[in-house]
Amino acid sequence: MGKHAFSLKTIYLAALTAVFAVSFFAFVAFDLYSQQRQTEQAMLEEARTFAREMDAVWQFMDNSQSIINNSSSGGYEFKGLHCSVVGKSVGRLFSAGSDYHIRYTNFDPRSEQDIPDEFETKALEAFNADRSVTEYYGVAPFDGEDRFRYLQALEVDDSCLECHGEPVGELDITDHAKEGWTLESVGGAISIVIPLDQQQAAMRGNVIRDMAYFLLITVFIGLVILVVTTVFVLRPLGGMHAAFGELKQGRLGASVSQRFAAKEVRSLIAGFNDMAGELRGMYEHLESQVQERTVNLREANALLERQRDKLEQLNADLAQETQFKSDLLSMVNHELRTPLTSIITFAQISREACDPANEHDRRSWEEIEKNSRILLNMINNMLDIARSDAGGMRATCEPMDLGDVAASVKGTMAPLARKYEVSFSTKVASDVPLVNGDYEKTTRMLENLASNAIKFTPDGGSIELRVAYDAEARVVTLSMVDDGIGIAPEDQARIFERFVQVDSTSTRKYNGSGLGLALVREYGDMQGFAVSVESELGRGSRFVITIPASAIVGEIEGEDDV
Ligand code: ADP
Repeated sequence: MGKHAFSLKTIYLAALTAVFAVSFFAFVAFDLYSQQRQTEQAMLEEARTFAREMDAVWQFMDNSQSIINNSSSGGYEFKGLHCSVVGKSVGRLFSAGSDYHIRYTNFDPRSEQDIPDEFETKALEAFNADRSVTEYYGVAPFDGEDRFRYLQALEVDDSCLECHGEPVGELDITDHAKEGWTLESVGGAISIVIPLDQQQAAMRGNVIRDMAYFLLITVFIGLVILVVTTVFVLRPLGGMHAAFGELKQGRLGASVSQRFAAKEVRSLIAGFNDMAGELRGMYEHLESQVQERTVNLREANALLERQRDKLEQLNADLAQETQFKSDLLSMVNHELRTPLTSIITFAQISREACDPANEHDRRSWEEIEKNSRILLNMINNMLDIARSDAGGMRATCEPMDLGDVAASVKGTMAPLARKYEVSFSTKVASDVPLVNGDYEKTTRMLENLASNAIKFTPDGGSIELRVAYDAEARVVTLSMVDDGIGIAPEDQARIFERFVQVDSTSTRKYNGSGLGLALVREYGDMQGFAVSVESELGRGSRFVITIPASAIVGEIEGEDDV
């Protein structure tokens, strides 16, 4: 709320007070004015009545002159009861002992008592100036006090002229010199003085009564407005204010009573109650949702914790396993491979140094060498697979001569083949180009294929390693072809998986680990060489390593597309 905001009650009180003050003063001013007018009018009417009465006396006396002045003997006898004398006397009698005065006046009166005072002079001047003006009145001082003064012009008629007419200076019946009036002259004025006190007291009383009445009505109206506003607007609004306060403090149960509220306030309250209800609903919904979520979260958290524990356990197991594996590998490497290599070399040397006559010794050394080689190959495969798993194996691609590779494979594998009674030959086409690849790995791939071929080819069979270049397809192929036991079509895909061995214990010449072909494929993938097999049961197998054009030295990749 702003700094200068006032309560509705204060605004009402201020507005009512302002309206009251203005209308009160306006009312008092108007009342005073109208009461004054009324009093004046009443006094004017009173004065006029007096004047009419005096006129009647005058008239009566005028009309009665002949009767009054007739003596009992029937002659004329002026009794001195002239209308003017009687009028003035009646006036004096009337005025004696009261605040009312009735007298006659003129500019040049015959009696000193009738000399006009200031107000009367002004009236006479007005009558003389304009004959149509016959009345003159107002509040003016008389005997030092403010009174209501009224003057009425006296008409001159024939009876007046008798004593006041022409000729001027002639003595009339009362021995006064005549003034020389005519019918047009102003015969003076009747002057009436009415006291103000009584009228003014009555007027004051009226004004005070009116004011009291006005005050009473206004206060009553103000009270009614205040009570109505308080009951129908302010109190319901106050209730709403309190309810807002409760809402603000989080007590959502707040609701406001609509009893005694005005229609507009009632709809406001209804709106507020609806809003509070909605808020309540929303809050309850939210609370239940929060609770639900909290439960869900707690569950999810517990699950996560369990999984984390499991993972930690697994991690610990793995770490232990990895440690064990690497210990095993280094043990295999140092404790088996190194002595095996020495044994092979020693067996070779011993065989060559053997007495040619001593066939038995030579065969023994050959046996040792053969078995050691098979064992070494198995160990090598195992170590290579483990190294590949550890991610520490990468092919180094550099130009290599496949003729050299074939010769090396032949050098290693031919003695073994011979030992197992199969022939081993190599055929390298003259147009085979240099290819980019890993010499070591390619040799190992071919040695593995050759070892398998020897293993699964019965005595008297033949094995050939062919290196060829397909100029059309622009690929180099390394094929290990044997005429051994062959592989069933359903086994051809799975033999490249690790540890898969087709059950042929009876037909195989020596055991293996089931890792040979898996390693061949992995080494192929490392260099971008494809490995495939074609075989027929009982008729032999043909394993092909396809070296793509991109690996051929001097070959521009995508030449075909140009
Ligand atoms: P292994 O150590 O048993 O030789 P390999 O991964 O080298 O394992 O070979 C998997 C299986 O594929 C062999 O057990 C064998 O049944 C089959 N196999 C591989 N080469 C030949 C082949 N030249 N002739 C017939 N069967 C073969």
